[in-house]
Amino acid sequence: MQRKLFIAGNWKMNTDLVEAAALVDGIVKRVGTELMVDAVVCPPYPFIETVVKMTAVYPLLVGAQNVHYEEGGAYTGEVSAPMLCSLGCRYVIVGHSERRTLFNEKSTEINRKIRKCFEHGLLPILCIGETLEQKTEGITFEVLNKQIVYGLQGIDAASIGCLVIAYEPVWAIGTGQSMAASVAEQSHRFIRSVVDRFTDHDIAQSVRIIYGGSVTPENAEELLKQGNIDGALIGGASLNPESFCEILEIAESLVGSRVLS
Ligand code: PEP
Repeated sequence: MQRKLFIAGNWKMNTDLVEAAALVDGIVKRVGTELMVDAVVCPPYPFIETVVKMTAVYPLLVGAQNVHYEEGGAYTGEVSAPMLCSLGCRYVIVGHSERRTLFNEKSTEINRKIRKCFEHGLLPILCIGETLEQKTEGITFEVLNKQIVYGLQGIDAASIGCLVIAYEPVWAIGTGQSMAASVAEQSHRFIRSVVDRFTDHDIAQSVRIIYGGSVTPENAEELLKQGNIDGALIGGASLNPESFCEILEIAESLVGSRVLS
């Protein structure tokens, strides 16, 4: 069994067009034309097309940060899965904690978004994670279980196998307080066991579960060495081509030596 490492940058609501182009230019120049890990950048919607064009001959894929669950129609301000596909977008972050908290996204909506992505061949990166209060209450696993169970309702096994799950403890996002790698590994193991209940064992083993929450070049190696941490979703450090590429290089250096569990 192999799970290719998956490194994604979430630019959030940052950069203008010139900065976005400079950022992606810095990344592709350093990455070159071959990578042994999957690398994805998720710029803001208006820059997706530019970034897709700039990365066309490089092993860097492009994702969106959100998507609407309907096909199209009277949803002012929203962006649909077919629109993203038509731009050459391949991945979509779904259910990021900022969307769950600031935009009140609920599990049913997140589930509909995931289904819509799969209908159009877009691959969702489903974000889950506990808040500080939930961690303090000792209900982390209960929260993760619910987010997975509701998020994956009605999704077939083959699609689940293509899913990327991003475990992002909310208290670790943008705070500089990354979770200790060995503790994150326990959550990742738990997440895989929940997915296992949902689908067959081989599929659960192939799902990539990545970690997000203050990942930097300093802590990336320890995290990515864990047997169930299959990559990283990176916010702040993805806005700097040097730090994003350093993390990519760390991931590359681990290919072949990771012991999966
Ligand atoms: C994120 O926004 O998904 C994230 C993990 O951010 P940061 O790396 O800045 O904590």
